[in-house]
Amino acid sequence: MQLTLNPVKPNVEATRKFLSSKDKKMLLNNEWVDAQKGGVIETHDPASGSLLAIIPQGTQADVDAAVASAKTTFEQGTWRNMLPAERAKILWRIGELIDANIDELAELETLDQGKPLGVARWAEIPGAAEQFRYFAGMCSKLESKVIPSSIGYQPPGKRVHSYTLSEPVGVVAAITPWNSPLILTAMKLAPALCVGCSVVLKPAEDTSLTALRLGELCIEAGLPAGALNIVTGYGQVVGQALAEHNDVAKISFTGSTQTGRKILDAAKGNLKRVTLELGGKSPMIVLDDADLELAIPGVANAAFFNGGQVCVAGTRLYVQEGIADKLYAGIAEYAKGLTLGHGLDPATQMGPLVNPLQAAKVYDYIQSGLADGAKLLTGGGLGGPHSTFVEPTILTQCHNNMKVVREEVFGPVLSSMTFKTSDEALALANDTDYGLAASVWTQSLSHAHRFASDIEAGTVWINSHLMFDPSLPIGGYKQSGWGRESGMDAVLNYVETKTVCAVL
Ligand code: ADP
Repeated sequence: MQLTLNPVKPNVEATRKFLSSKDKKMLLNNEWVDAQKGGVIETHDPASGSLLAIIPQGTQADVDAAVASAKTTFEQGTWRNMLPAERAKILWRIGELIDANIDELAELETLDQGKPLGVARWAEIPGAAEQFRYFAGMCSKLESKVIPSSIGYQPPGKRVHSYTLSEPVGVVAAITPWNSPLILTAMKLAPALCVGCSVVLKPAEDTSLTALRLGELCIEAGLPAGALNIVTGYGQVVGQALAEHNDVAKISFTGSTQTGRKILDAAKGNLKRVTLELGGKSPMIVLDDADLELAIPGVANAAFFNGGQVCVAGTRLYVQEGIADKLYAGIAEYAKGLTLGHGLDPATQMGPLVNPLQAAKVYDYIQSGLADGAKLLTGGGLGGPHSTFVEPTILTQCHNNMKVVREEVFGPVLSSMTFKTSDEALALANDTDYGLAASVWTQSLSHAHRFASDIEAGTVWINSHLMFDPSLPIGGYKQSGWGRESGMDAVLNYVETKTVCAVL
């Protein structure tokens, strides 16, 4: 594929200023520091390949220092024992500061990750701010229970009074991926901080810049030293050290299922609590009676939003035979109409993949689908100045045994096939190791809710896909993970329930 990028540069003075000093530091106890061993990692603009910044390459020593800082803060109680209303004000302020710096954060995210500026500016960065505001409200609402018990052997004349306490679990390690860096970070930090935990954050090595800028905003908002530490570096080193660390009580990870398994192994030493938001292979079922004006853009957007680098992306399309021709024509036109380019170019509707390795991996999946007998409806090309652009690709005549249908591709590739009956569609949709999300497109209430009940997935959208809100729990069935993020469920990830039983 031939693709020449239009020249672009950041519009926001603050972005230029942030990037003007190339050497970034990481956050330890509210101080900005280099890696103790002095190592660095270059971070590049995925569209052009140009150098954006240099981040510290943390090692075990940096992890030890960050965990010690978080532990001290936790033990001293400077954050966890702050009045809930005061913690709430600080979290709210972080949300407000994200909004106040939204144009800069959006440009940084686009430059670092590649996504179209509109996606960062209007969806993800505001979404991160909303996470902090949602959980700010929760700080003062963590109620416990008084529980009537029926203990028969209490001393005569005495009463038993039993209740629970929700206590912060301790030091939390948050490990985040590169597809939607700031919002996925906020989905971990906001609930963990809300309940009083101290956090060590390890952002993805390709996309650490907005996390570092967020660290500055957290200090500005008044977060006490040690409540948030940030260690940048490679997953196998920094991530692994955090997952193994005996002073980390909880690990909250978003990333691939493969890495999730490594984290589980590493976490077993001290039996730390683990929340995993892992891969997906989300089905979209379009029935004959679907409203195609909704379904065509909805299904295509679910597959190609953020270049398909979305854990809940719609990647398996099951279409009822009667409408297959119309639906395919519509989504092919949508895909062909998408303008590929640099995320900062206002004309761009789809950016590059995060790095050349990921683009090559996605391209290989397309080739494997074709080799297995799929037909190319549109797309299939790889190119761009840094070999990071993959065309929005639709494969038809797939079947569930193909590698491209079974494995998570994490790129703009939609695999599809037709079905005759609802039962067949349900069986095809559930025939997967994953269970993160799904959507069903129909005007029949009965069909919609039966599918919603019978599909094995943590989220089922009806006549939509990719609808998010801080109040809506998200997470996986089967090998898509453990636990839920967002909503009240997210708070439960970061607390231990203590039962108090008193004889009065
Ligand atoms: P991908 O394979 O798509 O790059 P990963 O799941 O490997 O995604 O990455 C998600 C996050 O997990 C990143 O921050 C990465 O650095 C981190 N990571 C990678 N390997 C490990 C590991 N062995 N232990 C802990 N974290 C890891």
